[in-house]
Order: sequence, then C-alpha cells, then structure tokens
Amino acid sequence: MITGKNYIGKNLSAVGRKTYRTFNPQLNIENDFVFTEATNEEIESAVALASEAFKVYRTISGAEKANFLNAIADEIVALDNELLTVYCSESGLPRGRAEGEMGRTIGQLRAFAQLLLEGSWVEATIDTAQPNRMPAPKPDLRKMLIPIGPVVVFGASNFPLAYSTAGGDTASALAAGCPVIVKSHPMHSGTGELVASAVIKAVQKTGMPNGVFSNLNSTGIEVGQHLVKHPGVKAVGFTGSIAGGKALFDLAAKRLEPIPVFAEMGSINPVVILPGALQNSYADLAKTYAVSITLGTGQFCTNPGLLLGIKGEDLTTFVRHLSNEILKIDASCMLHPNIARVYEANKQKAIVQQGVTVVADADVDVKPNFARQAVATVEGTVFLENPTLHQEVFGPYSLVVQCENIKQLEQIISALEGQLTGTLIAADEEANKYPEIILALQNRVGRLIFNGVPTGVEVCPSMTHGGPYPASTDSRFTAVGTNSIKRWVRPFSYQDWPDALLPDALKNENPLGISRMVNNKPTISKIV
Ligand code: NAP
Repeated sequence: MITGKNYIGKNLSAVGRKTYRTFNPQLNIENDFVFTEATNEEIESAVALASEAFKVYRTISGAEKANFLNAIADEIVALDNELLTVYCSESGLPRGRAEGEMGRTIGQLRAFAQLLLEGSWVEATIDTAQPNRMPAPKPDLRKMLIPIGPVVVFGASNFPLAYSTAGGDTASALAAGCPVIVKSHPMHSGTGELVASAVIKAVQKTGMPNGVFSNLNSTGIEVGQHLVKHPGVKAVGFTGSIAGGKALFDLAAKRLEPIPVFAEMGSINPVVILPGALQNSYADLAKTYAVSITLGTGQFCTNPGLLLGIKGEDLTTFVRHLSNEILKIDASCMLHPNIARVYEANKQKAIVQQGVTVVADADVDVKPNFARQAVATVEGTVFLENPTLHQEVFGPYSLVVQCENIKQLEQIISALEGQLTGTLIAADEEANKYPEIILALQNRVGRLIFNGVPTGVEVCPSMTHGGPYPASTDSRFTAVGTNSIKRWVRPFSYQDWPDALLPDALKNENPLGISRMVNNKPTISKIV
C-alpha cells in the first residue's frame, strides 16, 4: 500500500509540510497518492541510522548479504500486479516494459547475490612474509576490497525499477556492504515507495541492521543536496541529466571531505555507417534504426542520437528509407510532461540551427505528453563547427551527419564529447580498412557495438556502461553488471596481522574457498 511517507530505516515518517503528487502522462492527470517531502530532521535521522547500521553491516558475511538481496528480490516479486500498475501510471510506459524492467531488477539482485556467494570479487591478494630477505625483511601483506560507507542513490526517471530504488546502484552498494539512502525520483515516488517497502520487509526477515536502507521523498533539489553534503555520506550514485550529475559532482568535490559521485549522464551514442555497409542493406538498416531511435520513446541513455556516414547516393537512399520507416511508427508517450516539453524544446533548438534539414518530423496531432519522432541531416563541416548539434536531445530524435570523407569522419568522432556507446556498421572485411575510425571511436566511448544497435544493455560482468565525461563522471567504472560493485569499495591492506584476526577472505586456511592471488599466483589453495 502506498502511504506517501518516507522510510527512515524501518519506520514510516512524514513530519514535513511540503507535499506533491506523481503524474500519469498517458491520462494527463495527477495520480491520487500524496507524498510528503523529507525534512532536514528526517534526512539527519536517515544518515545517522545508516552510519550506525554500517558498523554492523560491513562485517556481515557474503552469504548473509546474498540472503538479504535474494529476499529483496522475492519481496519485489510478491508486489506483482500492484507494482506494475503503479509503475505504468507514473511513467506512461507500457505494461510489457514494466514486466521486463521488473525481471531485470530481480535478475540484478540475484546476480549480486551469486557474486557474494562465490566470493572472489573482494580481490584477496596476499604476499607472505620473507623474514630473511636482505637487506631488509619483507612483511606479510594482505589486501582486499572493503565497503566505503553509506551511499546515496538518486533514482533515474527513465528506469523506475532497474535504475531506481532497488536498481543497479542500490543492489551493488548493498552487495558491497554499504547502507543505502535512496533519494526517490519525484516522477515515480509511488513505485519507489512500494519497492522500498519490499526492501524493508527483507531487512526485517533477514535480520539486517535497521538503517541499512532508507527511502526519502523529494520534489526539489534540496533533499539531494543536503544528502550529498552530509559528512555521514561517503559516495553517490546518480543517473540523469548532465546538469544534475555535474552539480552533484561539484557539490561533493567542495566538501571538507570530498567523496566520489558516480554519475551516468547524457550520451548521443554515435553510429558510424561505413560506405560498404549501405550498398545492399540500407532498407533493413533503416528499419532497424527507426525502431532503435523510437524504442521507449527515445528515452534510453543508449539511444542512437547521431548517425555518421559518408556523403553520397547510398547515404541519401538510406536517409530516405529511415525517414519513411520512422514515420510509420506511432507516436508514443513520454515519462512526464516536463520531459515531453524539454524534448520538443531541445528538438526545436537542434533543427533550427543553420544547415540542419529536417527529413522526417511526425507532424501529426499527438496526445498530450506524446512525442513527435524526428530525423534531420547536416553536413559534416557544419556539425564540426556547431557544438549545439553535439548535445543530447532526450527523446526519439536522431541527426544524420553527412561527412565529406573518411578523414572528416575521423575528425568528427574525435571532436565528440565522451559517450556511453559507439556503433560500427560495416560490410565484411570493411572494418579492417579503417583502423583509425575504430581507434577514434574507442577513445570516445565505453562500449563498441559491431553491426547492431546501442539500445539494449545486457546485465553481465563483461558489460561496460559508462564512458569518458560527460557520459559518466568516472570512466574507470561501469554502472551496469556485477563489476559495478567496484564503485563502492576501497582497497585495504593488513600488515603482519595475526591470522585469527584477519577476515575470512585473507586467512591462511582460505575458509571461503575463493580464488586469491598468493605471492603473485592465482590459487584457491590454503597457505601452509
Ligand atoms: P535530472 O533532472 O538530472 O534529475 C535526476 C535526479 O537528480 C532527480 O531526483 C533530481 O531531483 C535530482 N537533481 C537534479 N539536479 C539536481 C541538483 N542540482 N541538485 C540536487 N539534485 C538534483 O534528470 P531527470 O529528472 O531524470 O530528467 C531530466 C532530463 O535528464 C531529461 O529530459 C533528460 O535530458 C535527462 N536524462 C538523461 C538520461 C540519460 O540516461 N542520458 C536519463 C534520464 C534523464 P528533483 O527532480 O527532485 O529536482
């Protein structure tokens, strides 16, 4: 049941006066539930509880944390129809998407549980002592990853489940041993509260310390800023706009004790279409890309917002097909009136730039909050000279850049800001001919796709979902997949520490049976 209250640890609380409702963009009306924004006192309580909980939670075994994560997944499954209905009413997204995202959220929680049960993720590294080493003895040194402390998670507007309350950031932080305080996204606070209730049930069922999880409502930037500035908070996870992510990053850097902010932000995901790829397959490619550009009403961080090709008849034919295909697709609902308004404004700003030609714009009457999909073209030289055209238009819009030649294509790729993904569309053997293009792309992105589409982010250990700034604030880490746990830990070494006092991961006996580096060799053997 949705109460509209904040979860301060296991307690529901709503002492504040500022209230708000979420919005149903499909029906263009406010939803019934009324949410109360967290007060400064409630924020203080949540952080104090998280700091207390950390003292216990950081020492809990991997098996117990795995049990906790699996229990969260079970409780989310139990929410079933209630959760899916609220999700759709707050996002405008269809039921199938809600089901898919719920499955992904549960899958992520269980994947982290598996990682904890296996245990080697702590990167235990042991160099045994050499007391007789000359000229000085070598001490016994043992290193592993340990949790960083309470983490604040900002839910994403475009993924109410998989990147929000118990989404990837929360699951990875809890797996690492860090308590989590969620700053709920104001567009889907009902979905957030239901998921928070599932987490709290799991906390209670598995005997986790109170305060290991809190969920705070807010409808302005103050709650989030208060949390990021709080000395009890040790790291931040964020998904959203460049402006929001950078503001929080700067705020965290200005603290007396600066902390890491892992923000996953905007991206236009360049797609490079080499000339040979168009010769026989422009029709199929156009169909595939029309679907990718409009998937989820273009509201994916991996949306292909920029198509780069070499000027000529083949590219012109492809663009004609793409325009036709994109206009066949029905307009669809955006997440919120503000997102729809910003999309129209940003699209307008992009298409009125000098040298930009609109080749497809669904110029139809659409229902409120629905998006008109569009494709435009521009010459490579114009694109290079106009930074406005490099900016993300969050929604079903893509710009085709007609480059003069391969050299200009390389120049354009190198001039792009950091991106989450890059895609290469090439005919057989064609990719071998242009290594400079592949190197230029690699230098700008976190993931390269070959003859596919960037939309669709697999959740698995080998996924990199991040990239050079502004795609993310730290390109050394991924926000998706089990490796995202590395954002919430720090390396820690014990020197000449008695075996009995060491954590299990570093004991001579290797009681967890995990893979470790011992004297520079990977092994699961005990140290004798
Ligand atoms: P957002 O405006 O960046 O907001 C995300 C969260 O951060 C919200 O909870 C927001 O709080 C908070 N926030 C934003 N600026 C803040 C600041 N200066 N200080 C403290 N907290 C701050 O993103 P959004 O609401 O999800 O969507 C807005 C736009 O972001 C979209 O139109 C789109 O352009 C972009 N976006 C991009 C991606 C992507 O993956 N590329 C994903 C989602 C959104 P309040 O809402 O309470 O103010």
